[in-house]
Amino acid sequence: MYAEIVFPIPLNKKFHYSVPSELTSRLQVGMRVLAQFGTRLQTGYCIGLVTHSPIAEEKVKPIEAVIDNEPMFDEKMLTLTRWMAEYYFCSWGQALEAVVPSGVRKQMTGQHELMVTLAMPREKIQAEIKSATKLPPQQARVLKFLLDSDISVPLRDSPDVHRGLPTLSYQEVLNRLKISPAPVDALRRKKLLKVFRRTLDYDPFLDTSIPHTSPFTPTPEQAHALEIIKQSLDRNEFKAVLLHGITGSGKTEVYLQAIEYLLSQGRQAIILVPEIALTPQTIFRFRSRFDSNQIAILHSYLSEGPRAQQWHKIRDGTAKIVIGARSAVFAPTTKLGLIVIDEEHEPSFKQENVPMYHARDIAQMRARQENAVLILGSATPSLESFYKASAGEYTRIELPYRIEQRPLPPVEIIDLTHEISPKNSHPVLSKKMELAISEELAQGNQIILFLNRRGFATLIICPRCGAIIRCPRCQVAFTYHKELNQVLCHYCNETHPPPTVCPECGHPQLKYRGTGTEKVEELIKRLFKEYQIARMDSDIMTTYRAYKKTLSALDTGKVNILIGTQMVAKGLDFPNVTLVGIISSDTALYLTGDFRSAERTFQLVTHVAGRTGRGPKGGRVLLQTFKPNHYSIRYGSTHDYLAFAREELKHRQELNYPPFSQLLRILVEGRDIEKVKTAITKISDRLTKQITRLPVELLGPAPAPLAKIKGKHRWHLLIKSKDIASLQALLYNETTADSLKQLTKEFVSSSRAIKISLDMEPVSLL
Ligand SMILES: [Zn+2]
Ligand SMILES: [Zn+2]
Repeated sequence: MYAEIVFPIPLNKKFHYSVPSELTSRLQVGMRVLAQFGTRLQTGYCIGLVTHSPIAEEKVKPIEAVIDNEPMFDEKMLTLTRWMAEYYFCSWGQALEAVVPSGVRKQMTGQHELMVTLAMPREKIQAEIKSATKLPPQQARVLKFLLDSDISVPLRDSPDVHRGLPTLSYQEVLNRLKISPAPVDALRRKKLLKVFRRTLDYDPFLDTSIPHTSPFTPTPEQAHALEIIKQSLDRNEFKAVLLHGITGSGKTEVYLQAIEYLLSQGRQAIILVPEIALTPQTIFRFRSRFDSNQIAILHSYLSEGPRAQQWHKIRDGTAKIVIGARSAVFAPTTKLGLIVIDEEHEPSFKQENVPMYHARDIAQMRARQENAVLILGSATPSLESFYKASAGEYTRIELPYRIEQRPLPPVEIIDLTHEISPKNSHPVLSKKMELAISEELAQGNQIILFLNRRGFATLIICPRCGAIIRCPRCQVAFTYHKELNQVLCHYCNETHPPPTVCPECGHPQLKYRGTGTEKVEELIKRLFKEYQIARMDSDIMTTYRAYKKTLSALDTGKVNILIGTQMVAKGLDFPNVTLVGIISSDTALYLTGDFRSAERTFQLVTHVAGRTGRGPKGGRVLLQTFKPNHYSIRYGSTHDYLAFAREELKHRQELNYPPFSQLLRILVEGRDIEKVKTAITKISDRLTKQITRLPVELLGPAPAPLAKIKGKHRWHLLIKSKDIASLQALLYNETTADSLKQLTKEFVSSSRAIKISLDMEPVSLL
């Protein structure tokens, strides 16, 4: 017997190995094996068992070991991943690798987890940070992170650990700070930190008691949507529904009642939400309707162990409802009946590394396989989905009214080009905005202020020579973070002390320009001293608890003004928020090279505005902009999706961009710019020879808008095609495939000098 094995490497090929007689009874298709590959043992996936090998008997190597006791993948998952490999131009092995969480692959059963805690009381640690013995910056960051996190987990099996001291999972500390284990281990040796193993009993709802809610009586529109969904569930047929409901129209109630119906049929549901919308509020709504044992939650705050535990709970059928971000689309359900993608327009549903899949496409394939229903919910459907609905591929159902007939909040546009402050620069807050904030505060109402840049100043510039202080690895402007007193690169996380002189001309005074959340917070605190102000961005919301704490402070009225980035734009539902102030939303409109910038701006305005007017007090929105006449701002302010979509589709059609074409991006990255250019030119030349008879258009090669990241130069090539078939014909054509394979081999052999990635339907062209 021979096993067909694929490896998680960028080479789409299956390899044949012989199965030693002692393993024949154990090995099944869908299991993982250890096998000699090149010079070392590597984990591979068994995708087939055959009686003949195309390779000569004496050349076939045996499998060394079988890793799993039962198959990790069933027939359907194998089919799905094979389709993924073909569609997204990656290898089958890479697709399989993406489907299972790393904790499961490492065979963690979720029973133990490595934890980090402070080895002495807070005051002593603080003194240590301040003391003369200077800590290296990374070590200081780790300590500060722990001090700030304010988390202590129940430590029943670790009595020697100080109670009440911040304790976090080791993995989480590394993930959140994006660091290697070295600084943590150094601190452990200095006896400032303790690292220990704890027994795990993960329950995401451990510390919360949530009152049970009963289904609400659906509005006529909700009832209509439910009727269509239930009909398909009854018939056990595939159906894709685009649930186009404005903010506050009760989409979640439709999901909840559809799931309730589905559970009565004994089937399972997967609910995908964007990472940033995976708020405690969202989870509570599910928890208040269903038993917590029935729910599995997969979010990025979970470390490997608990994630593995949730995975097993889904696979053995205990969990009936899976809630998670993008990768939860691969949840190992055995009786799938429904997949919901909430906020389906969100770019975070696209994976940015190989396999570069879009959860929406995977969900559609899975739903088809399982005869399940797919619900795509959004107040601002992606133009791709809207177009598919117009073409009849999806059934579009509208929820055009807010529940209890509440109106959408009026949006007033403030033209910042007319606002000049005494210092002859544009102010962060317009007069109108400032006045509106004080009015609402005086009435005891709450306010959300939005801008999509974190940090204090977004640009440091030399007034003498005009030099901009940039990250040396990325050529991207550094952002000044005042709390850290560091400049930070938002692309590679490199930090430096703020420069004291211009690196170009030595001028001693640098100007700090641009506004981030820290600056707005400082300004608001100065203007509204007697009020409580909270900030929410990824700099401070480093743990799930911190996030929950801020939200509950908002809920109980302890916070009057919340300032934040995208994190505040999604999912929040507080009836006492009567004013949303959009400090700035234009950033995307200045990004050239992204054909979706108008769509992103429209979505942002709509969703941020949707955070208010959710209670009997109503609400209003003030929108500051330098581009008051741009159609994305105009239609955003009138909540007019259809008008926006019509205008945007017109532009897309003129330029032949999606949804009117299929886009593929080929990106080449490497430290040596000459190698990068040679490789992309080679690819481009080969492709040009092939495209003459195909309805395909080639753009580039050109430097990517972000031409250098983490020391790597980036060049790209865009291929626009009328249809997927022509694109596949082009890339799977023997000559092209050969040259790509050749280049990939060169890449592997030249110790990763360049990296070539193929991105099907890219969401980012930067
Ligand atoms: Zn200078
Ligand atoms: Zn950088």
